[in-house]
Amino acid sequence: MKNLFKIRTLFFTLICVFAWLPLLTGDYAQGQYLHLQKKNPTIEEMVSKISLDEVVRMHDIFVSFVNMNTFSDTVSNTRGVGACRRWIYSEFEKFSKASGGRLQVYYDNFEVNIPDRENLQELWGDSEKLRIANVVALLPGKTDNIRFIINGHYDTRASSGYDITSPAPGANDDGSGTVITMELARVLSQYEFDHTLMFVANIGEEQGLYGATHMAQNAVDEGWEIGGVIADDIIGNIIGGNGIINDSAARVFSQDPVDSKSRHWARYCKFIGEPYAPELKLNLVFRLDRYGRGGDQRAFVQRGFPGIRFTELNEYFAHQHGVNVDLVEFMSREYVTKVARIQAAIMASAGLAPRPVTMMNPSRDRSDYSTRLRWTHQTVETDVAGYRIFIRKTDSGYWQEIIDVGMPEKQTTTTGRGEDRREVEMYQVNLMHRSIDDYIFGIAAYDNQGNIGIVSTYEQPERNQ
Ligand SMILES: [Zn+2]
Repeated sequence: MKNLFKIRTLFFTLICVFAWLPLLTGDYAQGQYLHLQKKNPTIEEMVSKISLDEVVRMHDIFVSFVNMNTFSDTVSNTRGVGACRRWIYSEFEKFSKASGGRLQVYYDNFEVNIPDRENLQELWGDSEKLRIANVVALLPGKTDNIRFIINGHYDTRASSGYDITSPAPGANDDGSGTVITMELARVLSQYEFDHTLMFVANIGEEQGLYGATHMAQNAVDEGWEIGGVIADDIIGNIIGGNGIINDSAARVFSQDPVDSKSRHWARYCKFIGEPYAPELKLNLVFRLDRYGRGGDQRAFVQRGFPGIRFTELNEYFAHQHGVNVDLVEFMSREYVTKVARIQAAIMASAGLAPRPVTMMNPSRDRSDYSTRLRWTHQTVETDVAGYRIFIRKTDSGYWQEIIDVGMPEKQTTTTGRGEDRREVEMYQVNLMHRSIDDYIFGIAAYDNQGNIGIVSTYEQPERNQ
């Protein structure tokens, strides 16, 4: 009996040792399939606060301004772009008060040329320039200052981009995006984030991305560090002109190349958003925008910032850019609310997560054919709990596998040459059975609340032989 006990104990000990051996030797061969391992209950709470009633309330007011052409009336309090602008500002102010003043509200003013058109001269006389504005609500980061920006455009258009009188309420283009942006400002400003969140109602999208261009150029001039931009535009209709009805998915457009910052941002939205708001799927489209068309994300992407566009699954062209065709009755505000929920999770998670790591070039271990991944991580966040490796085959557009490697021991190495030579702290893991030739590897940090950051990858070095 005693011997049997000893054998059992020995057997159990061996099982324990062998079960842990792969981890101890740094062999992370067994990947787990893709899912978010831990949801943050605070983010779940934020998502639950996104309200259909609020979306409907704000959207009803938005469309009441009739024609919000960039060059339309600014004096009336009930009609035109000026009235709409002041109303958005007043809503942001209300949210700011509820946040104890943490949400900072301002007009991002600038001037544009008034085109030489008869109907515009009737309103603006001899003025050559018009002062216009984005409306901004900014929630400063608590510990760090990466900016995550969400925007919709509040200018609308009839058939002509310079028709300032015909009804063009812009219920979908872009009342949908503007109201989502406002609803996120309302809910998220009740919380604190590590990074800065900006909620922006853009002007002049229809005449040439005026507002987004102004802000993106300002970001370059002032050296903003932008983690991601979401442009919400035409994101409220579930009945396509092609006859297809679908309220369970949205499209997310991101610019090439395959591992551009915009593409990483798009993948992040899908990876983070869907588990928190499972009633909406995000279909990633690997293009800057729809074929031959554009939007506010372009202004940021062209300046090197990560920017993506959310748009409904099937557009209805006859309900866009016409006289009195873009109406509430052609929209689903339930769908708009679903999009707001998934984006609340995305913006919250990005705002709370540790900043991205810097991947050093991976290498192959020629003795055991493993792939060695190394990275550095400069962060002010004190609760980083570990790292996850994201893996996909080279012909796949989306991550296929995640391995949680916890917190590897810090090591030091020297980088650079000559005067640039210096010691850096870095992390390293070896992946068995993952040939460096056949896979793309990415790494992201997570904190002890389960908030995971945006994935970083590396550039493959080119060789002639
Ligand atoms: Zn639009």
